[in-house]
Order: sequence, then C-alpha cells, then structure tokens
Amino acid sequence: ASGSSSLSSASCNYSKIEEDDDRIINLQLGDPTVYERYWQEMGDVTTMVIPGWQSLSYLSDKNNLCWFLEPELGKEIIRVHKVVGNAVTQDRFIVVGTGSTQLYQAALYALSPHDDSGPINVVSAAPYYSSYPLITDCLKSGLYRWGGDAMAYKEEIPYIELVTSPNNPDGFLRQPVVNRSKGVLIHDLAYYWPQYTPIISAADHDVMLFTVSKSTGHAGMRIGWALVKDRETAEKMTDYIELNTIGVSKDSQLRAAKVLKVVSDSCGNETAKSFFDHSYDVMSERWKLLKQAVKSSKRFTVPDFASQRCNFFGKVFEAQPAFAWFKCEEGILDCERFLREEKKILTKSGKHFGDEQSYVRISMLDRDTNFNIFIHRISSSFNSTI
Ligand code: PMP
Repeated sequence: ASGSSSLSSASCNYSKIEEDDDRIINLQLGDPTVYERYWQEMGDVTTMVIPGWQSLSYLSDKNNLCWFLEPELGKEIIRVHKVVGNAVTQDRFIVVGTGSTQLYQAALYALSPHDDSGPINVVSAAPYYSSYPLITDCLKSGLYRWGGDAMAYKEEIPYIELVTSPNNPDGFLRQPVVNRSKGVLIHDLAYYWPQYTPIISAADHDVMLFTVSKSTGHAGMRIGWALVKDRETAEKMTDYIELNTIGVSKDSQLRAAKVLKVVSDSCGNETAKSFFDHSYDVMSERWKLLKQAVKSSKRFTVPDFASQRCNFFGKVFEAQPAFAWFKCEEGILDCERFLREEKKILTKSGKHFGDEQSYVRISMLDRDTNFNIFIHRISSSFNSTI
C-alpha cells in the first residue's frame, strides 16, 4: 500500500470554484467515482495481465454448487468479511452475480413459489431503493410482482420483504417491518461497510447481497455476491444465473478478487493508510461540509443519525451514508425541480422512492470537483437565473 499523504481526505477549496461556473452538476446516480483517487494512488498493486488463453471455459469450479464462481474470488469474499466483521460467512453458500442487481433477480426467482398460486408480492419500506419496483415488474413475471411500501402491507398471504441496510436512499440501518408469518426476507447489504456506517455486528441473515460497486467503488466491474444459508435457495439462484447469462465474467471475477485482496491486505498494514481509513475520512469530511452548508442555508435539512460503536474501527461515530436524503424546507414542494432550476444540480426526486417530492436523493460519491461545487451552491446564494 502506498499510504501516501496525498490520500488525505477531500478538502473543499472554494477559491478554485469560480462564482460564474454554472455547469450542470449531476448527482442523480450513485456512481462511486469518489474512490478513483485512492485506486490511482495505489498504482500498480491491482493491475492484472490476463493472457489470451485464459477464461475460455464457461466453468470455474465444477465441484462447487456455484460452478461459475472463481475460487480466488470466493476466498477473498470470505476474507474481506472476516477482516471487516460485517457478515457471517461460515456455513454459507456464495453465489456470484453480474452486480447485486442480477442477484436480486436470482433471489426473487429462487424464493418465489413456482406453483400456480400466482405472483408473490415483493415489498420494501418506503423510502425504498428506486430500482426495486422497476426491476421487479419489468418482465411482468408470473412468479413475483411489486407490492409497494412494506409499512402499508396488510395481506395475509406469502410475501418477500426487501430489507436494505443501510438504506438507499436515507442511510438508516433497517429491520424487517412486516410483522406477519409467511414472509421471506432478502437483505441488501450493499452499504454495510465501515466507511458508511458503524459495523455493529456481523450480519447473519438467510440471503444477504453485497457488491464491489459500493464497497471498493468498482461499479463498472459488475460483480456482486450473495451469502445464502439454505442450499436449495443457493441452487435455484445459481440456476437462474445459468439461464440468464450462463455464469459471470471470469475476467471481472479475477479483478474483483485482486481488489478485495488489496483491501484486506491494506487493513493489516500498520504503516500505510487502509482503504477503509481513507474512505471513512473522505465520507466524514464530506458529511461535515454538507451539514455545515445545510445549516447555514436554513432552506434544507438532512437526517440526524445516532452515534454507534463500530467494531471494525473500535470507535463511536454517526452514519455518513453514500447518499444524502435531502429535504427542501420553506414551502419548496418540489425539491428536485428547485435544485435543477435554481442551483443547476440534478438529483432524484423522493417520488421515485415512494416518498414526497420535498425530498431528493443526492449522491455523496461523486468526484471532489463536483461535490465541492454542489456544497458551494447550496451554501451560497448561487442562482442559475442570474
Ligand atoms: N442495491 C442497492 C441498495 C443499491 O444502491 C445498488 C446500486 N445503486 C444496487 C443494489 C446495485 O448494485 P450493483 O452495481 O452491484 O448491481
């Protein structure tokens, strides 16, 4: 690990932000480009050369339940969870996917009844991740259908509840909310990493989804993994991925294994700054700047988080999520429109998350330049019409 001092946290150099710089800042997606700087500074440690004769076979390990999982990736997944302490891996099956997006669909396929009882309802407490309803209903499956806000779910029939913890968009740690039998749970733990939230215990649920997109920032590699307790569920998820894409890119799996190895190695390296030390510091600095800007503007609010002890860092801190669940006050009813028209900042309206339009979701994971312009604009009287 380089551990270079240039990996210090992001600083907001307002002098570099021209008052008349009125470019459009797009913070709609959770594109994790904030991590580019760390990986650039790390130089060649994650560089790989893949010869042309490699990755010809569809198969990775025919003795494994998930026969397309590269053994090296399986090993590094177990190791990183052990290092961070954020999930139980013992006696679990690992299913690799093209992002956790594919694994979400594989889990729906595996957990839905395949008899003629009709599509099972899939619910999640609002505000929920905006892609869930779209992915769930895009093929109008006969197996499952989007059932909306889990808080409002009253039916006495089987259901699948999605628990995203920490939650996208608002960053809170979550528990299931439907208090009924006949429910099956999928835990989406994409953000359960110590740069975003205190690691309070090793998660121990039936189906847990993770991804490199939000842990190491390699969203473009398209690698996610599921930790699954039940053999039959893991088999069905594997079957789905076989039907859907006949496995998952081996090249991407090998790169993901290398990146995860470097992350785990960096945690044990006393002399250099670890990946999580670096990313924690960046998120902490960004949330400090955001809270100051919001306070000085008086027009906006962001959620308050309780302080909790993190077993990984061995210290107490408040969540510093990947997104800000940002509310416009002072009678601004359409926050997305206000920020777009007055501040030239593109965000995602609360309506996509099953909530009010006075809320928007703002990515906290963009590059420093865009983040700094965003902070500058919400704390100043910047007005695009001037
Ligand atoms: N779950 C949640 C809660 C997410 O926010 C995202 C990415 N925005 C995903 C899943 C999808 O991740 P992946 O890139 O691994 O498909």
